[in-house]
Amino acid sequence: MRLAPVLCTLSLAALLAPRLPAQTNTARMANDSYTRSHDYDLLHQQIHVANFDWEATSFDGAVTTTLVALRPDLDSLILDAGHLLTIQKVADADGAALRFTTTGDTLVVFPARPVAFHDTLTFTITYHATVDNGRGLTFITSEGRAHRPQQIWSQGEATNNHDWFPTYDFPNDKMAWDLIATVPRDFAAVSNGVEVSDQPAPDGSHTVHWRQVQPSASYLVSLIVAPLAKIHDTWGQVPVDYYVYHQDSTLAWPLFHQTVDMIDVYSRLTGVRYPWAKYAQTTVADFFGGMENVSATTLVDWLPDHRAYLDRPWYAWILIPHELAHQWFGDYVTTENWANMWLNEGFAEFLPGQYWLERLGPHAADDYYLDEYRQFLGIDGRRRMPLAALGSNNIYPKGALVLRMLKAYLGPQRFWASVRTFLESHALDNATTDDLRQAVLDATGEDLHQFWEEWIYSAGYPAFRVGTTYDSTTHTLTLAVAQTQEDTATADSTGLRYRTPLVFHMPVRVRVGTSTGDVVREFTLDAREQDLVVDHLAGPPTYVVFDDGNHLLKALDFDQPTPWLAMQLEHDPDLWNRAWVIDRLADRKDDPLARQALARAATEADYYKTRAHAAQALAAFGTTALPPLQRALRDTSAQVRQAAVGALGEVGGDQAIALAAAAFRTDSSYAVRAAAVRALATAKAPGLPDVIRAGIETPSYRDQIQQAALGAIAQSGDTLYAITADSLFPTSQVAGFVLAELANKGSGTALNRLTARLDDDRGYVRRRAAAAFGRIHPDLALPKLQAAVPSLKHDDVKPLVERVIDRLRRAEVSSR
Ligand SMILES: [Zn+2]
Repeated sequence: MRLAPVLCTLSLAALLAPRLPAQTNTARMANDSYTRSHDYDLLHQQIHVANFDWEATSFDGAVTTTLVALRPDLDSLILDAGHLLTIQKVADADGAALRFTTTGDTLVVFPARPVAFHDTLTFTITYHATVDNGRGLTFITSEGRAHRPQQIWSQGEATNNHDWFPTYDFPNDKMAWDLIATVPRDFAAVSNGVEVSDQPAPDGSHTVHWRQVQPSASYLVSLIVAPLAKIHDTWGQVPVDYYVYHQDSTLAWPLFHQTVDMIDVYSRLTGVRYPWAKYAQTTVADFFGGMENVSATTLVDWLPDHRAYLDRPWYAWILIPHELAHQWFGDYVTTENWANMWLNEGFAEFLPGQYWLERLGPHAADDYYLDEYRQFLGIDGRRRMPLAALGSNNIYPKGALVLRMLKAYLGPQRFWASVRTFLESHALDNATTDDLRQAVLDATGEDLHQFWEEWIYSAGYPAFRVGTTYDSTTHTLTLAVAQTQEDTATADSTGLRYRTPLVFHMPVRVRVGTSTGDVVREFTLDAREQDLVVDHLAGPPTYVVFDDGNHLLKALDFDQPTPWLAMQLEHDPDLWNRAWVIDRLADRKDDPLARQALARAATEADYYKTRAHAAQALAAFGTTALPPLQRALRDTSAQVRQAAVGALGEVGGDQAIALAAAAFRTDSSYAVRAAAVRALATAKAPGLPDVIRAGIETPSYRDQIQQAALGAIAQSGDTLYAITADSLFPTSQVAGFVLAELANKGSGTALNRLTARLDDDRGYVRRRAAAAFGRIHPDLALPKLQAAVPSLKHDDVKPLVERVIDRLRRAEVSSR
């Protein structure tokens, strides 16, 4: 799965609440102990669902399960079945009723007679399901809102599919399945595998039958019921279908058609042909991002329009290639338990960068992984966890970056051969972290247990401090390298402690520029402190790169003279190394040489990301940065213009304001115009009210310009805007937060408007109003809410308001 960037604060740890880990000697053994035991092998489930009721969030189900006993005299079968499933009957293959009991989320079925070791048993469970909306299935009614047809979507990962059908809800037992859904006329039903039939009934409903023949994990069973247009595409003989709302039909092809090429590239790189009967991508409302249900991915309904492509939408750059990568990593080879989930997510996050490398070249790949690196640092800074650990918080970016490092270490041929061995050895089956190490060993003969121990089973990353001395008599440069990372973690309540290695062992390349050309040397890092000696130089260094090519996942503290940094920024092709240099130069705001180097990079670097980053850094140099920023505003890349506009906001003054205002009026990119609104707010531009008014009325992809305008209102704290924010309340989630902010700044109007919204005729508006109150200071919000509760017109909002009151009271108490 992939969370949308705005939701990235949701931690995966919360999603996968850890159970108590067994205390064992090594991380590897601890991870393997999370695999669940059971005494049968699930072969097949036929899942029949009908009579969907959006009001009651309920339906009727019948699931026929075929399994093989894995112990002699198996006299009871334990299945996962959500406590809201009312089991009406369990019958064997002959229709004879079987005894069953339910406790919580467990259903126990007693066969008529004990099943012998390796014998097969088939039985059918008939049930009525009430859904706690959002658990397993999400029922959505349109509520009169635009771009939001009535629909239902499922979400299994990690353990929610048993909330809508009885199954074995853990990844370590793969099965095949049929899914048969009876849905209203005009509604499509999309699921895994091939469509077997679609039968209309006299009552206007129709029954769609899907069959997933190759086994996969039960958390990947998917169902989407919605009025959808199907746009058909193919990869060779394999159907590649895009299911979108009818009104999005024309947006689907430009967004999704690249999937075909991605399937091609992934098949070639991994050496494993796309393994499933078809690939469907279906868009739904209120989705957190994307979910890689096998052969039938579910995606959020944020299709970019034509203009949004100027801003390189996240959807096309990461979301689509990430979920597609899961079709190999996650769906074809599946983590054996949730403690090895990085095998799913790390590869899925790694592969898009490899796709862009193939299609757009090394800069695009660097660009992709540089974003991952920044995310990684943020997450690691909050809590330092290993990749292979239950509830690990860093499996996406660190997974991608460690795999990138592994590829750099092994070289592409040995790396892809190892990946292929891994996929083929565990095809349609499960794997653990150590299985990947074994695959590398099998494919290359190299046992990387130390790499696994340091980068995958341990936490943290190396922090290098590098200093240099040049001996002009011997023409020798010495780099004094120290690994300064500390191991400060303490054990948690279960005794588990995530160790950070004090020494990471890796090869490193050092590049030294001289008047007669560059000298490149390889070294092995294997000590807390060590000297790397580069001798026989033609003369003093003109620049020095520690970790040429940026193969190591690391932090680097390396103080250098400005001319070295300027030289590196011009010569180093690696985007991470350039970004690192730019950050160092940005700290030297009294150094004209630093400014000149940044100005040159902002206007002349050969890749937009460097230009954008340098433009951003120029903000620190005040009005002296205006000429290069003005040039950067004419860049062909919207990202560079966006960075330049942002920098102008920080520089401030009449000229910067005039340039940002012009960008707001005339730029073709939504993101640049949104950045211009923010810049004008930051610079406290005199014409800001007009810009806010215009911004609010400017349509844009994901309402980014409108949101920037609302942000500017919140930033200004001008309570006169309360009515404007309130008018946007029904169409913008952000408007509620802005009203809350204005209320906090003393706007009685904002507080009254929000209170009135609690009685709005539209349920979602009432819910938003209640949520917005949660952001208002208790002293202001509590009296208002307490007075409002007795006379609230709609019952459904009362429990929400009570919850907010509760939370605010607790906040009030804890602040005293
Ligand atoms: Zn994912």
